[in-house]
Amino acid sequence: DVPAADAPTRADHTTPYKNPRLSTEKRVDDLLARMTLAEKVGQMAQAERVDVVDDPGQIAELGLGSVLSGGGSVPDGNTPEAWADTVDAFQEQALSTRLGIPLLYGVDSVHGHNNLHGATVFPHNIGLGATRDPKLAERIGHITAEETRATGPQWTFAPCICVAREDRWGRTYESFGEDPKLATKMSQMIEGFQGRQGQLDDPDRVLATAKHFAGDGFTVFGTGEGDYTVDQGITQTSRAEFEKLALSPYIAAVKKHDVGSVMPSFSSVDWTDDGLGNPVKMHANKELVTGWLKEKRDFDGLVISDWRAIHQIPGTYAEQVAASVNAGVDMFMEPFSGDPVGYPQFIETLTSAVEDGAVPTARIDDAVSRILTAKFELGLFEKPFTDRRNIDEIGSEAHRRVAREAVAKSQVLLKNSHRTLPLSGGDDVYVAGSKADSIGDQAGGWTISWQGNSTHQIPGDTILDGISAAARGEVTHSPDASAPVPAGAHGVVVVGEHPYAEGFGDVGGPQWGYDPGETELRPPLTMQISEEDTAAIETVCAAAATCTVLVVSGRPMIVPPDLLGQIDALVACWLPGSEGRGVADVLFGKRAFTGKLPVTWPRSVDQEPINVGDADYDPLYAFGHGLRTRR
Ligand code: BGC
Repeated sequence: DVPAADAPTRADHTTPYKNPRLSTEKRVDDLLARMTLAEKVGQMAQAERVDVVDDPGQIAELGLGSVLSGGGSVPDGNTPEAWADTVDAFQEQALSTRLGIPLLYGVDSVHGHNNLHGATVFPHNIGLGATRDPKLAERIGHITAEETRATGPQWTFAPCICVAREDRWGRTYESFGEDPKLATKMSQMIEGFQGRQGQLDDPDRVLATAKHFAGDGFTVFGTGEGDYTVDQGITQTSRAEFEKLALSPYIAAVKKHDVGSVMPSFSSVDWTDDGLGNPVKMHANKELVTGWLKEKRDFDGLVISDWRAIHQIPGTYAEQVAASVNAGVDMFMEPFSGDPVGYPQFIETLTSAVEDGAVPTARIDDAVSRILTAKFELGLFEKPFTDRRNIDEIGSEAHRRVAREAVAKSQVLLKNSHRTLPLSGGDDVYVAGSKADSIGDQAGGWTISWQGNSTHQIPGDTILDGISAAARGEVTHSPDASAPVPAGAHGVVVVGEHPYAEGFGDVGGPQWGYDPGETELRPPLTMQISEEDTAAIETVCAAAATCTVLVVSGRPMIVPPDLLGQIDALVACWLPGSEGRGVADVLFGKRAFTGKLPVTWPRSVDQEPINVGDADYDPLYAFGHGLRTRR
């Protein structure tokens, strides 16, 4: 039985660290002075839910500081209560330890509390970049925080403030766009997650994570066998350009928004050298993690490693652990108890490294102080269990209204011949294309499961639902456009990508895989519209009064000139999430189109990478392009 949230607080005014009247700094110092090395090192370890769920006693036994739910790691039933019960059961374990240090629970709420069935699922960041509206990003961050914390987790691994410079990168949609100023502006989402200073202990706020530090968005595209462009590659750029494109968004994240945590990138940058002739992995980059972030920019939050990322540092496991801790990483996402190595081995290895002098005690104390500071500021020492009062707000109409507004504002009208859009409410509409009635595709990756799935059914409306609700005329739906187009009907063809996360992704389905050492070559990313969708466009454009193509995707897709010539109106929808009605709002003129391209839209995939400011910049649609309509 888990104590209710309103049970008497655990405050104890005679033990300084338990005394909420003392400053966080005093409480941290007091607690740290009481901790053994084993207790300290335990705080630096983070396990995955799946690995402790059958044996939560490990949390107490090893004194784990944190547990995460990685993408799609959801408790049985995937209800708010199931989440909160899981987190609280783990919390009981943490509280049963000698010092009763509460557990920090992290999750990837990257576009809403996207792992939870029934959550409000917002557009992925690429769509929010198109809105150019940082206040809206802040509201979305706040709602996401509220829906997340009501179910237990007090920490989100978001937002991604990378700049996506290479659209074939499978995480382009997690980015606000290709421009560092845009990423900087939209990082205001952090304030929505965390609130202003002193609000982190509210039941509707979570600790945010700026990720992935730094340069994840422009590693080199596959130039040969085994060289995959993912965020685990090498960024090739000058120091000055790296400062501008990769580091600059972190200045606002830290200085202005006071972000609570930062996650290093799997990548490295080519002007560094690890002494063995390889660029230094960001997880071992002391100059950037400690020097630039913690010292130069005074970042006082905690650095959380990415998923098993330290295993990519050259050397033995002991060397990997020491290099990363010494570089300034504070907590380690070492998810499993054997894989073949994970959190138990991490604890053992780091303990020996301290005993052998490979890692100074002062570094451990610094790391643990940062972790404890977050726990104090989140109010976990006073209220360790889930405050469930906001469960009823999850997926509420009010939250969905904000998501719908965000969807409408994120739509970018690329082409609009003869003022095809907006359609008039009375028009008959013929709807085709593989993405017209697929909420799973519309939500993209990081939804219910890590990779997302076309077949996921989450509460919400598809684009077809939105069109059906908005149109007063007849609506005909034929995914492959095989049904005849009624005379005079306007055609809307919804095309796009299947969901994917990280790795590559392509219209043919997820093409994930990035294990270092993997030799199988992946199909080259083409950013092409599928043959089926192309055929549907051709059929509808030939038969309908006007034809509008909606592209549901995490990045630009190639529209060849002959196809573009047949299309009257073209819209980039991005990955709108659960509220397809927002798309219908702009189609039918309930709201004006105001979105602007957050990334450059190329003519052909050969132009990749293509970014504003390039020499010979000749895209199909430039960064910032977006036609407006009247309401
Ligand atoms: C991703 C991170 C994510 C983590 C936890 C990693 O694979 O790179 O962005 O936060 O998994 O799910």
